[in-house]
Amino acid sequence: STSPSYGFQPLATQTKQNPDSNHAMLHRSLAYKPDTVSHASGVYLTLDSGRTIIDACGGAAVTCIGHGNPEVFAAALSQMNKVSYVHTGAYTTTVAEDLAHIILDGNPYGLEKAFFVGSGSEAMDAALKLARQYFYEKDEKERKFLVARKQSYHGNTIGAMSVSSNLPRKIPYEPLLLPNVSHVSPAYAYQYKQDTETENEYVSRLASELDAEFHRLGPQNVIAFIAEPIVGATTGCVPAPPGYFRAVRDICTKHGILLILDEVMCGMGRTGSLFAFEQEGEGVVPDIMTLGKGLGGGYAPIAGVLVHSKVVDVLRAGTGMFNHGQTYQAHPLSCATALAVQRIVKREGLVKRCKAMGVVLERLLKGNLGEKKHVGDIRGRGLFWGIEFVREKGSEEAFEPGMEFGMRVQRKAFEFGTAVYPGSATVDGVKGDNGNADSENSVVLVA
Ligand code: PLP
Repeated sequence: STSPSYGFQPLATQTKQNPDSNHAMLHRSLAYKPDTVSHASGVYLTLDSGRTIIDACGGAAVTCIGHGNPEVFAAALSQMNKVSYVHTGAYTTTVAEDLAHIILDGNPYGLEKAFFVGSGSEAMDAALKLARQYFYEKDEKERKFLVARKQSYHGNTIGAMSVSSNLPRKIPYEPLLLPNVSHVSPAYAYQYKQDTETENEYVSRLASELDAEFHRLGPQNVIAFIAEPIVGATTGCVPAPPGYFRAVRDICTKHGILLILDEVMCGMGRTGSLFAFEQEGEGVVPDIMTLGKGLGGGYAPIAGVLVHSKVVDVLRAGTGMFNHGQTYQAHPLSCATALAVQRIVKREGLVKRCKAMGVVLERLLKGNLGEKKHVGDIRGRGLFWGIEFVREKGSEEAFEPGMEFGMRVQRKAFEFGTAVYPGSATVDGVKGDNGNADSENSVVLVA
């Protein structure tokens, strides 16, 4: 096994001749300056050099309606003309209210309120605080533990990183992270379902582990369980086996523990339904959920927290407030652009189209790559797909340990003019292990 790496490799055009030396930006890599994108339109990025790249991963599953939409520009300009900024402690704007309505109206799940921030990480931190406040208001102040999953990514702020388990991104900062967080196994059948196990038995094993973890901590001491309905950047577009989230929901309900679903990457239509959890069966509804990326389609920084009436009611009956104000919360420009994006998504039936095109993408990916020797698994939903590369078909052993492999695939694809997104998670390929290993899978995302 090797230690997780957390280096970022340059893309094909980024060589030592393109150093960072006279650049004021602190980029991910201090050694290389990223390519400058001078123009973006539809699915295409045009670099300074004049090269055109197909943005096949939409950044990181962000640009759901493509780049350069004039309707979104018009909405942004119009909002800047009307109200560029007001503080949400004292005011609101029509675009913020309309955005909350377009997401929530008519949902049959009891999701009642939306809270808008600037990034998925901030949304996760807000969700964690909201969950703690729910119990504070209920006078269950002993609840202080958070349980999340290994091989997950929830963001890079202190709270969001604490519940994440993407080791390469996390290890250097461990001493700063929250102490009351533990991680259970991911629902990652390709790597961890034993050959002798049925899918149902695998789900039961995972459910028992979660229940046992709640009992270890004392269920009355636990605030929330946090999970991505479809794991994105770490293991690469991994949906849970059928019945997993049903079991998780039931265990949380049994102990009065909140279920927080992180749909920053997989939500807002990306998987063929507006919310990814909708494909997990009736009654599988989060108490709090987060959104990001496709919410604003990349036109301005925006993410959100959706809150179930069960939580809102407790706050309403208690202090009557969520004291988590941020200066740029529900920023008018972000809300106006996200509203324009969501109106386009709705008017053009893009969620349905995503589902239909997902069938085509699945057929093409499996048809063209499925039989390749080093392709172990192709999985996903809607337009959210991951390809896991292995040494030998059937071995489930990472093609190469470490993040570099995904980066190499990214570079090769870039040479051919296509942008894909490298993912990576710590796995060891041992069937039935709990995912607590120290080497990585080799995975690439298209979205
Ligand atoms: N949650 C998930 C599932 C994500 O994939 C990400 C980002 O990739 C985040 C949270 C954090 O979002 P952001 O990068 O906008 O802070």
